[in-house]
Parts: sequence; C-alpha cells; structure tokens
Amino acid sequence: MKDHWCTNYTTCKLVNLAGFCKDESTQQKYLKSFCEQTHKTWSKCKRYEMKNELGSCPDFVFPDTTMTLAEIITKFDEQND
Ligand code: SF4
Repeated sequence: MKDHWCTNYTTCKLVNLAGFCKDESTQQKYLKSFCEQTHKTWSKCKRYEMKNELGSCPDFVFPDTTMTLAEIITKFDEQND
C-alpha cells in the first residue's frame, strides 16, 4: 500500500472482497479512479464519505453512487426493517 492511497484501503470490501464488484474491470476502474489516486481523490468516494461520517458503509454503495448520505441511510433502514 502506498502512502497516498485511501486510508480505508486495507479494510474496504471493494478492495479486499472477491466478487464485491460485478467484475474485475469494474473493480480496477474504481481502484484507479478513487482508491489509488493522488490528491486524496478517494475522499470524494461515497463509500469513504459514509465510513467517515457513520463508521461503516452498506454494501450497495460504490464510489460513484450518486445518492446523498441521507438517502443511503434511508435505503439501508428500509432494507433492514
Ligand atoms: S476510495 Fe472508497 S472504495 Fe476505495 S478503498 Fe477508499 S473507501 Fe473503499
């Protein structure tokens, strides 16, 4: 792991769980666009934002998910009622 990579790199399911993304090319796209980017681009990742705000992130959230954090929380609550 390089110093400029996302601070969640070693624990994030998107990086570490096989099959989390629909295919390997999708995972690689996220790694290059967010997780392994310089200039803290990963801080704009929705998974990073969720973990930073709430300490965890639901599995349906991906770096480029367009939902707001509030919308994500609402969807998570609906799924877990
Ligand atoms: S940039 Fe997002 S997807 Fe990548 S390791 Fe960080 S939190 Fe996970």
